Amino acid sequence: EAACLERLVRAGRLSAEDWAVLLAARTQPAFLEALAPLAQARAQATYGKTVYIRGLIELTNICQNNCYYCGIRRDNREVSRYRLSEDQVLEACEAGYQAGFRTFVLQGGEDPYWTDNRLVPFIQAIRHRFPDCVLTLSLGERSRESYARLYAAGARRYLLRHETADPAHYSRLHPDEMSLARRLEALADLQALGFQAGCGMMVGSPGQGTSQLVQDFLFIQDFQPQMVGLGPFIPHHATPFADQPAGGVTETLVILALVRLLLPKVLLPATTALATLDPRGHLAGIAAGCNVIMPNLSPPSVRKDYSLYDGKRSSGTEAAENVQALAAELATVGYRIAVQAGNHPDF
Ligand code: SAM
Repeated sequence: EAACLERLVRAGRLSAEDWAVLLAARTQPAFLEALAPLAQARAQATYGKTVYIRGLIELTNICQNNCYYCGIRRDNREVSRYRLSEDQVLEACEAGYQAGFRTFVLQGGEDPYWTDNRLVPFIQAIRHRFPDCVLTLSLGERSRESYARLYAAGARRYLLRHETADPAHYSRLHPDEMSLARRLEALADLQALGFQAGCGMMVGSPGQGTSQLVQDFLFIQDFQPQMVGLGPFIPHHATPFADQPAGGVTETLVILALVRLLLPKVLLPATTALATLDPRGHLAGIAAGCNVIMPNLSPPSVRKDYSLYDGKRSSGTEAAENVQALAAELATVGYRIAVQAGNHPDF
């Protein structure tokens, strides 16, 4: 393992065989203990002891997709569906701005209501009102033309997890109407258009073993994303994966640390899913090389309805209105929140 890590830091990439050696050790606490300080030092070399915060606004839980893992999948009839109004979003941004947020992330299900003709003026309105803020979108797969229009309107980052880079595993997680090829094409389009692009996967999703994760790392080292979003898979009771076990905290932290060592400058959030499984998840993520936290800035009345998995945290330091408490938590380990847009350093 030590020799593989040395090669990773020296060359900035690894062979499939080397990735397999590292990833096979992902559940061992001793491996995490050795790895985390290296990854944290790597993050500090670029970002110091600062954390970027992003206000996550969950625009809609209406979704035309039917991903087997996801609580807001089309076929889940138990969900009470909502779509935020433009005023609700602007109000959330205003509150977020006052609290120190300079990036807003609009995330949602693939809701056909949000056509380009609706999104473009909406993005322009947010940009106009908050000119010193960056807008990140996470609205799923769209055409290259659509992404181009969203970029022209002023959006600058886009999160689209690839979910898994192994085609057979992708088919186990998604119905036939979705394909890995289409997902990867969308990611390539986003990056080619100039977006800071984010891929990522769930850790411990059903059917994921070392060989699937090796594919993920080979993809990430080729794609060179500006952001990587990853957290543990957590089951949702009204999905086909209701009875599947959740991913592990240790393996998630090991994988985060490996991403940091592979991509020293990447924007890497300690995710809500991690903080859901481990109340100290934010700090553990920072200690493993994360540099971003994305508190929930949705109107509190809809938060319970954006339930991607059971027990999803949206209170305490996961809630944007408690950013002071988050700052206090980070201060206990000598970190502070940066009140700035927090772009990838190459942008
Ligand atoms: N629809 C957009 C998309 O597909 O990219 C964005 C919204 S989607 C709900 C955001 C992310 O939630 C997905 O990329 C997936 O990785 C994550 N997610 C969904 N269900 C999950 C679960 N049961 N456990 C952990 N993460 C989950």
